[in-house]
Amino acid sequence: MNFGLVAHRLHRLGPDSSLLHWARVCEPALRALGWGLHATGGAHDALSKYKLLESQLVPVGNGRDGGLMRLVSRMAGGLVPQDALDGVFFLIDPVDPTSIYPEAQALKRQCVIHGKPFVATLAGAIEWVAVELRSAGLNALSLPEAAPLFDLESQVLALIAHDALKNKMVAFAAEHFDTLSRFAGRVATGTTGSRLNEMAWSRGWPASQPWVTCYQSGPLGGDAQIAELVLDQRCQKVIFFEDPHVARQHEADIQLLERAVCSAHHATTCFNTPAMATRWAQAVSRPV
Ligand code: PGA
Repeated sequence: MNFGLVAHRLHRLGPDSSLLHWARVCEPALRALGWGLHATGGAHDALSKYKLLESQLVPVGNGRDGGLMRLVSRMAGGLVPQDALDGVFFLIDPVDPTSIYPEAQALKRQCVIHGKPFVATLAGAIEWVAVELRSAGLNALSLPEAAPLFDLESQVLALIAHDALKNKMVAFAAEHFDTLSRFAGRVATGTTGSRLNEMAWSRGWPASQPWVTCYQSGPLGGDAQIAELVLDQRCQKVIFFEDPHVARQHEADIQLLERAVCSAHHATTCFNTPAMATRWAQAVSRPV
């Protein structure tokens, strides 16, 4: 597999930065998986300086030279098959102005369109390597710091789906009901949440108890309310089935939630597509 690798300045400055921490923690696992990492200028230079992941890095150039733009093309398949990417680790600093550049948004959008992982936080980047280890039948718990991410009983999960994907969300939650029920709590935006509660009650969940706690519907501010839970670290995982094909009146609220996830980047992970959520759920329920 090939993954893109990008890190905003904040996350690549100094030996204790998130990028270097991630590389140290994950280097043996990434070597075992044999992945190529197509890294933009700053991430590539920081890793080379500290001699991390060197044999796996493929430089794609600085932002100014179009490094991030190349990753967008490669997410869509690129120009030659060996350059196609299977996902990206993009350690985002939400107040870095480049986080809202068109190429950053296009990269996320192409990931959603093609159902490829877009991983934007440190916790998410460690978790995703662990998911891939488990999917490959390797021991994910050999990865330092992965164990708490699989401890669902200590986390709260948010579930949100845009209208065209609500049926898929209900089907996903029904298929992985036992796994999702392990979380200490579940929250959702209003309409998604009421569909999920109906599904849970129809499966025998106690009628006096909601399976998910519902906030406002998305257009009325539910995404922003869940963002505040994320910022307070009262919600550690967001599963958000996004519809990349329609413009939404509350786009700002959706972006706000994703930026809140990046603000809480040590503690929070986010899946944006059914493909990503399903791969995670299968890995979690796989016997160790
Ligand atoms: P809804 O909100 O679950 O209330 O439809 C989801 C969203 O549009 O963000």
